[in-house]
Amino acid sequence: MKDSLTTRDFYNIMFRIRDYMRENRDYLTNLDSAIGDADHGINMERGFNTACDHLKNVDPENTDIGTVLMTVGNALLQVVGGAAGPLYGMFFMGMASRASGLRAADSRVLAEMVEAGLRNVQDIGGGTVPGEKTMVDSIYPALEALKEGGPMLEALERAVKAAERGMRSTIDMVAKKGRASYLGERSRGHQDPGATSSYLIFKAFYEYFKESGS
Ligand code: ADP
Ligand code: MG
Repeated sequence: MKDSLTTRDFYNIMFRIRDYMRENRDYLTNLDSAIGDADHGINMERGFNTACDHLKNVDPENTDIGTVLMTVGNALLQVVGGAAGPLYGMFFMGMASRASGLRAADSRVLAEMVEAGLRNVQDIGGGTVPGEKTMVDSIYPALEALKEGGPMLEALERAVKAAERGMRSTIDMVAKKGRASYLGERSRGHQDPGATSSYLIFKAFYEYFKESGS
């Protein structure tokens, strides 16, 4: 049984994320229209379209995981404006730095990669912590689930479930960071768009691994 993600797997997962962002563009944008400026779906679709265009120049059979993730991070930094561009750009850059030189990652290494990515998000966001109605509310619990280690499929399943619960938990939160924080109490009652796109990223990892003959 396959129990790690190779460079090829990460490469394919980036295309899966692009597909999910495309399919959920209007959903993400509608969430952002309630508490933001109605561009999150557009931002994410544009970012991953560009990332995947750039990945076409990368040979996943002859490179490390770090290169794949750095290509994605750079593309997001280049073409996605607003808050999500730098945040997700540096999320993937953080993951890339931990995966530099690696051609396979088990669930423990994946947890360390996500940890490095989350640290970047928290730093760039101005010290973002869980409970502030942001993408951190999905990524943090997913990381905690990944840290338990064990078989990759089980770790990813725990992570996506944790991310989904985290995403839903943002509905009752008052935004403390980003554009939504300008609304104060009025931000309550709406699901955070960034927490939703983060959930979709973990879902792409899980669904891909489940289908890829694990
Ligand atoms: P913008 O807010 O500039 O329009 P997007 O709409 O693309 O950018 O992304 C908004 C998302 O970014 C929010 O839903 C939230 O999850 C995330 N976000 C915003 N500010 C922060 C922050 N300081 N820390 C972490 N995440 C943040
Ligand atoms: Mg927005």
